[in-house]
Amino acid sequence: MIDAHTHIVRGETRNFICEPFSSEKGANDVAFYGVHPWDYAEWDGGERLRAVLAADPSAGVGEIGLDRMKDRNIPQAMRDVFASQLEIAADFTRNVVLHGAKCWGEVVKACKPYKDRIPAFLFHGFSRSGGLLPDIEALNGFVSVGPAVLNDHAVNYRELVKSIPDKMILVESDATAENAHEQPSVADIARKTAELRGMDFEPFAALVENNAARYVSYRSLI
Ligand SMILES: [Zn+2]
Repeated sequence: MIDAHTHIVRGETRNFICEPFSSEKGANDVAFYGVHPWDYAEWDGGERLRAVLAADPSAGVGEIGLDRMKDRNIPQAMRDVFASQLEIAADFTRNVVLHGAKCWGEVVKACKPYKDRIPAFLFHGFSRSGGLLPDIEALNGFVSVGPAVLNDHAVNYRELVKSIPDKMILVESDATAENAHEQPSVADIARKTAELRGMDFEPFAALVENNAARYVSYRSLI
């Protein structure tokens, strides 16, 4: 299956693999380069990002965004690094993968000016209530469902998962070298997601593959 957000290749047919990488990407995989919001202090002004995007025409930008997990106030420097990376993605007309822990509204707001300049947006780990879904759809956004869907206590998350429009839904493991053995497979995540949405596994898996292919295809339409 497609794993729409991972940092390590774990034998799926296709991976959207994001920095920080914990393995090499395979032939079917799409690489996303960028500085994670936790690492904003490492930003070099964009020289490296521009160079790697120029060297890999199929690559996107990610995971980039904002984060309120560690600090309630989003540092201005974190916002600036996010804005700079959106600007570079727009310059190269590349897709982005977004991180927005506890501040998805802010991430959506920051992306809106790039609506027609960035081909498609992937909202990874999106866990807010469904109120932002129309805005995400208007951005040509996709939402990937993660391991939290397997948690029987994640009642609100499961409600959100039911409300994601068919054409926007993906599945992701968010696996890293550190958690690779405990993260569930995307097939398990897809099976639960399909069940919650009242679908059989096979058609749901086909829908997700189709969405992933569409997400990738948009970059060449601009
Ligand atoms: Zn991740």
